Amino acid sequence: MAIYNPASLHAEEFINDEEIRETLAYAEKNKNNMTLINEILEKARPIPTATGCRCNGLTHREASVLLACEDPEVTKRIYEIAEEIKLAFYGNRIVIFAPLYLSNYCVNGCLYCPYHMKNKTIPRKKLTQEEVKAEVIALQDMGHKRLAIESGEDPVMNPIEYILECIDTIYSIKHKNGAIRRVNVNIAATTVENYTKLKDAGIGTYILFQETYHKESYLQLHPTGPKHDYDYHTEAMDRAMQGGIDDVGLGVLFGLEMYKYEFAGLLMHAEHLEAVHGVGPHTISVPRVKRADDIDPDEFDGGIDDETFEKITACIRLAVPYTGMIISTRESEAVRSKLLRLGISQVSGGSRTSVGGYAEKDRPHDTEQFDVSDQRTLDEVVAWLMQSGHIPSFCTACYREGRTGDRFMSLCKSGQILNCCHPNALMTLAEYLVDYASPETKAIGFDMIAKELKRIPKEKVRAVAAQNIEDIKNSNRRDFRF
Ligand code: SAM
Repeated sequence: MAIYNPASLHAEEFINDEEIRETLAYAEKNKNNMTLINEILEKARPIPTATGCRCNGLTHREASVLLACEDPEVTKRIYEIAEEIKLAFYGNRIVIFAPLYLSNYCVNGCLYCPYHMKNKTIPRKKLTQEEVKAEVIALQDMGHKRLAIESGEDPVMNPIEYILECIDTIYSIKHKNGAIRRVNVNIAATTVENYTKLKDAGIGTYILFQETYHKESYLQLHPTGPKHDYDYHTEAMDRAMQGGIDDVGLGVLFGLEMYKYEFAGLLMHAEHLEAVHGVGPHTISVPRVKRADDIDPDEFDGGIDDETFEKITACIRLAVPYTGMIISTRESEAVRSKLLRLGISQVSGGSRTSVGGYAEKDRPHDTEQFDVSDQRTLDEVVAWLMQSGHIPSFCTACYREGRTGDRFMSLCKSGQILNCCHPNALMTLAEYLVDYASPETKAIGFDMIAKELKRIPKEKVRAVAAQNIEDIKNSNRRDFRF
């Protein structure tokens, strides 16, 4: 039998079934142990330092105790601490991105995904480079600067060369004042060699959802195709890091399996990356399974209500304080509003989950991957964020300045974010407002910028940011960032 070892490179040792089961039993046994729970909450709180603050994070066992505890007072404390952590490390900034679907050809048999090979009702489509260009221009015209490209797995239709060509095309398009400055990639698990090619193509984060950490369920949910190989899929992030990619994004597709099991597995995966590579995941996504062509989410065992979903998000925030957290338009405006306060740092906006959906005007499109709950335009999402006190950020500076992997984490831990990320967010928001916003959004935005500039601690940084924003307003653009 495999023995738990977070530093092992074998899936069954770092995502160890026995350790997860023992964790769940430990959490159940201690879910009313208030002495322990108070100690864990105390450990999770941000600690002030000379330059800002730092956090301890929580182990998967500690976080699982909090998740199991049903006391409403404890839940309230968890939410308060999640918000404190969020504000300490990410401030009130929310990074904006959009998915771009390249191809829905797929040779896998994933039971929850409409792109599965046996689905004969969904039309298959793969973008040509001309179509990629049209999509990117449509995305740039909305104001997007950061994309996550998505593709089914098909070595013949979507080989790595196709993905690389698309990345090249995306980065090459400069339409009006637009540019895609960071391309994150969500494609199937691949080889070290291919990860190096992606790294050399200039990708940002490599994102791969585990779907479920429960091996037996995983094998049933992925009955056919290369994705059936649980170990190959689970060890993908190690190959990505070996290939030179230092920002990786984890995620579970909540709803497939029992959430407490997934939660422990997800945190063990984060601990494993830290133990082996010295840096945890750059982001964690929290998607929930949605209705789609040929897919009924009620067929799966692990559906979770909104309250449980909120608690999972907040507990992840406490456990891995330096990891960005992503929520997509799978969730409604109401759910997204709540999660923003509990630790989310990135949201998508104006998304289309169909192949070619941005250049086509009307939706729904027949190649759509799943129902999008939040169907607002990017302009509406930007206005909504600002109205609830968040700064929509189109910043991609860290990536462009080489602040990835542990260098990004150092910035996050140094407490210098208010002198760096904050002005960058305001400058990129100003660019968005001038180039793409509606008059109402523009008015809200410049009001917010005026107030938020005052929060920059260093006088010199504040002055430079203010000057840049004036220049942006007066069409005097410089590609400047802190
Ligand atoms: N094909 C790639 C792979 O196998 O990892 C990734 C691309 S796929 C477009 C991105 C993610 O969509 C999947 O990892 C899965 O978690 C999610 N997804 C698939 N079907 C879904 C559904 N019905 N509802 C919500 N999310 C879904």
